[in-house]
Amino acid sequence: MALKRDVFRALKDIVGEENISEDLATLNAYAYHFEFGRCPLAEAVVLPAGTEEVQAIVRICNKHHVRFKPLSTGWGPWNSPGDKGAIQIDLRRLNRIIEINEKNMYAVVEPYVIGAQLQAELLKRGLNCNMIGAGSNTTALTGMKMAGYGWTGISMGVSGRNTLGTEWVTPTGEIIKTGSLSTDSGYFYSEGPGPGLRGLFGCTMGACGGMGICTKGAVKIYHWAGPPEPQIEGRESGYSIKITTDMKMKAWYTHFPSYDKLREALYKIAGTEISYTLSKISTLDIAVGLVETNNEFFKLYNDLQKLITVHGFLIIIVANSAKEFAYGEKVFHRILSETEGKTLQMLEEPCNQGKILWHIIRASMQPQGIFRPTGQFFTSFGTQESIDYSLNQMLYAYKLKKNLAEQGKIMPHLEEWSVGSIYDGGHASVIEHPILRHNTPEGLAGAREFAGQAFVAALDPGLNSHVGGITATPGCDAFYNAVGPGHSNLHLWLRKFKKEFDPQGVSEGNFYVTSENEYQEGPFKLPKPS
Ligand SMILES: Cc1cc2nc3c(=O)[nH]c(=O)nc-3n(C[C@H](O)[C@H](O)[C@H](O)COP(=O)(O)OP(=O)(O)OC[C@H]3O[C@@H](n4cnc5c(N)ncnc54)[C@H](O)[C@@H]3O)c2cc1C
Repeated sequence: MALKRDVFRALKDIVGEENISEDLATLNAYAYHFEFGRCPLAEAVVLPAGTEEVQAIVRICNKHHVRFKPLSTGWGPWNSPGDKGAIQIDLRRLNRIIEINEKNMYAVVEPYVIGAQLQAELLKRGLNCNMIGAGSNTTALTGMKMAGYGWTGISMGVSGRNTLGTEWVTPTGEIIKTGSLSTDSGYFYSEGPGPGLRGLFGCTMGACGGMGICTKGAVKIYHWAGPPEPQIEGRESGYSIKITTDMKMKAWYTHFPSYDKLREALYKIAGTEISYTLSKISTLDIAVGLVETNNEFFKLYNDLQKLITVHGFLIIIVANSAKEFAYGEKVFHRILSETEGKTLQMLEEPCNQGKILWHIIRASMQPQGIFRPTGQFFTSFGTQESIDYSLNQMLYAYKLKKNLAEQGKIMPHLEEWSVGSIYDGGHASVIEHPILRHNTPEGLAGAREFAGQAFVAALDPGLNSHVGGITATPGCDAFYNAVGPGHSNLHLWLRKFKKEFDPQGVSEGNFYVTSENEYQEGPFKLPKPS
């Protein structure tokens, strides 16, 4: 179903001939996503240059009842329309860092500024920014897109909380400003006056394109005690920060004799506030970060498996002074001795230390781990809950993966691959359980079976206990219908807002809610609401 010619012409008049395409090769490139494979094709892709062009496109969509789906860097299936008849709005021309406000500690960026770009500017100024674990290759304007979890959770929180004043083109094409920007008081604050719009527009959980388009916004920035001009060595995928004797920064990977000891250590460390990052990961991530080929990876991974009983956590301490660093190190080692924890010796070697540090500071490890082995992965999506809950989920996922691998439904090995960070001084934690998958229809079916079961298990508190358990995931009608009744009828409230702000349903809600209050089968099989 091609776009009607008058609609195509109207869009072309807005962005210019070179910034619109209906070319099949181009549309197919947008539609391919490694998790789901090929998603529905958009009818056209348009590349606006700024807020006014975005607004004009959205108005055309409303006039002609055409659905639209925005994308910033395009990481994952939630960027694709759910069905035919929609256009893709690629925001790559909105690529400016508008302001770095050192005094009030925020940066104003457009959606196609990526984390790596912003961070490069910030480190020079002794500042840093929150980035999601997906990588510094994703937008620096996180928070309004999807989950928002990353390595620096313990020191910087989740992306939703890092979002300050923003500018949005609503689903009907109005321009609105949120937080302090709404009263022209600048970008410095996220909420009010009046009801907070941050959650409504998906800044905390992510509306995945279902509530209009954010065209610029401010993110919090943080003090950076590490080197302002890091000396980087090595080559692509093996970059390493040069380790010097005066460095007040170090990474350790830990392992334990039992899960109870690991649990105890995580709680204790989290409460001390000594860490820049504190993440529960398996040695898979460590091995991936240290070597450059798949063969080397499997060798190292197998060697580490023999050495390690219970995979622990990665911690990085970055201190302002030698005294502060010595304090952090002492606290860390004392907790390890109380919990019988050990550190992985190979990380003491400067070359390995430099690689892990730089991978985590730059948030570059996950893409490498996920894409180098097979190019295909799938994940279970985590739930924000307690450290205890995360660890229990991890053990559940581990058994589930083993079981499915034995049946040949998912790739064997790597069953203990779980990735997650600790937040809020140990009061919260998010963990997800990725798998690698075969690039075949059966591989996709097996991966979906795993993710579906793990996902339903992760949602357990949200479904049954009416508390927590609904974050860290892209939604869909089925998802909100399932968790809504346990959460003050969230599914009904979201739809009320959706109808009000998007009466024609043009802001594609396939990973959010649609206006219709009907049950739809989403990407995951979830229980039907009772
Ligand atoms: C390999 C992999 C690992 C991941 N790991 C993590 C992780 O560790 N932590 C985590 O939090 N997430 C993770 N994710 C998911 C990730 O959060 C999203 O892919 C992320 O939002 C990408 O950032 P982006 O804004 O560049 O978004 P895009 O991928 O461009 O878009 C994400 C969603 O937001 C919508 N959107 C994009 N731009 C706008 C805009 N300007 N206004 C309104 N809506 C918009 C899109 O329609 C889409 O639904 C991972 C994804 C992948 C593929």
